[in-house]
Amino acid sequence: MTRCHDVRKQILLACSFLALPALVGCSMNPVTGRRELILVSRDQEIALGREAAPKFEQEFGGRVPNETLQQYVRSVGAKIAATSDRPMPHEYTLVASDVPNAFALPGGLVFITAGLVRRMTNERQLAAVLAHETVHVAAKHSVQQMQKQMGAQLLVEIAGRVGGEKGGAAADVAKIVATMATLKYSRDDEYQADAVGIRYAARAAYNPWGMVELLNVLKNLAQREPGTFGEMFQTHPMSSKRIQQAEQTLRNGAYARWSPTQRDPGEARFMRMRRLLEKMLKK
Ligand SMILES: [Zn+2]
Repeated sequence: MTRCHDVRKQILLACSFLALPALVGCSMNPVTGRRELILVSRDQEIALGREAAPKFEQEFGGRVPNETLQQYVRSVGAKIAATSDRPMPHEYTLVASDVPNAFALPGGLVFITAGLVRRMTNERQLAAVLAHETVHVAAKHSVQQMQKQMGAQLLVEIAGRVGGEKGGAAADVAKIVATMATLKYSRDDEYQADAVGIRYAARAAYNPWGMVELLNVLKNLAQREPGTFGEMFQTHPMSSKRIQQAEQTLRNGAYARWSPTQRDPGEARFMRMRRLLEKMLKK
């Protein structure tokens, strides 16, 4: 976390004091409003995510082969994407792995596993997890982390080739996938994804208390099934503090119309989908 902070501080300094020309990549972060140094263009970021996506899909058991379920996840995702501070070509995909997980690739591709969906109990929890991932894209957390983990120079070189007409060579794609597979967000990124995710969920007319419910689902899972859960904790560190922070955000006046005891109007629809998913998984 500290390293990440230092890097960001340096990047911010470069942005504000040196007044580098636009070609170096100073841009405003649409979530924080701060200027920062992002060295790949929006199109390159999208190309990077798309090059890596097939490998990730495969790694997580492939798409769940059911159009009703995919359409359902897409429809909840589309409502969230419409509220994002950063319009991106978002796609939300349900993958078959039973390991509870959700992740976003740079550029806007979001994946959620069957293992996470079947452990949730209503639609606002699904909206919350998709909102959290959408914030990672909007606030450019994933591309910032790639820049940091891969080194800016290498990322720019590869993004240049991948974003070109021929697409990436196998070696480039392998490097991108390897980096994305080990992306680690800082705790600050996680708190921001929760807090802004709450905002996106509420803007999409979901009761944002779904975020606290979701975090509790994850916490209980970690206690009951710690073994199945390694990966998600790697990218999404869980702590009681995250739950407290989310509660604090929700108790702020902006969300006064929502209460944690209201029933989710999407619950019956979600449970129908969950049963369909469970039936598919048994086949
Ligand atoms: Zn996260």
